[in-house]
Amino acid sequence: MAVFLILIGPPGAGKGTQAERLEISLGVPHISSGNIFREHLTNKTELGQAAEMHIAKGELVPDRITIGMIEERLSQPDVSEGAILDGFPRTIAQADALDRFLEARGENVDPVIYLNTSDEEVLRRLTGRRVCRAEGHIYHAESKPPQRAGICDEDGSDLYQRDDDREETVKERLRVYRVQTAPLIDHYQERGVLLEIVGEQSMDSVTDRLKSVTSVRASG
Ligand code: AMP
Repeated sequence: MAVFLILIGPPGAGKGTQAERLEISLGVPHISSGNIFREHLTNKTELGQAAEMHIAKGELVPDRITIGMIEERLSQPDVSEGAILDGFPRTIAQADALDRFLEARGENVDPVIYLNTSDEEVLRRLTGRRVCRAEGHIYHAESKPPQRAGICDEDGSDLYQRDDDREETVKERLRVYRVQTAPLIDHYQERGVLLEIVGEQSMDSVTDRLKSVTSVRASG
């Protein structure tokens, strides 16, 4: 049985970092809707152009575009054993589309991990975040600096600050999260698939907790 694990939480809760770590331990691909959008922006595709203004303003990209993009990614052969979804779904309409897509394959979403993190912590993390241009590896100016300033330890590419990690845009992303994404917490809680983890512990503590939760699920 495949595992479709979803990570939900405000921007900056640590979803990307945890998904990278879980990808190794679970052996299924990490699919980040934000990373796919950023690839489209870099490659200046039609989809990238359609998404660009929304991303720059900290708004969500319209559901129709986002759902089509994720369904295409989920149809690729490396997803046959499941995936770790980071940043998708972000609206109830996206969650419903994902259910329909997985149901048609005899699969379902489980577990959904909610990384609960305060606005203050999100602001601190995101305004200090630096991302590697080649593969999206994540650093923090204070809490996880690279060995050489501005250079990714893993692949040597340069590190940059995302435009949408500027303070004003982060505040808008938090507002959008509360209105459009937070309702997913109750939605999945009612289905009995939600597990909450305090996102404000160290990244390693969150990883340990996630690994114990997912190994229990995998064996049970
Ligand atoms: P992220 O890297 O997950 O913070 O995503 C960066 C930006 O991409 C978001 O602020 C949105 O503008 C857009 N985005 C990513 N995932 C989604 C989604 N599931 N639905 C709509 N927009 C998204």
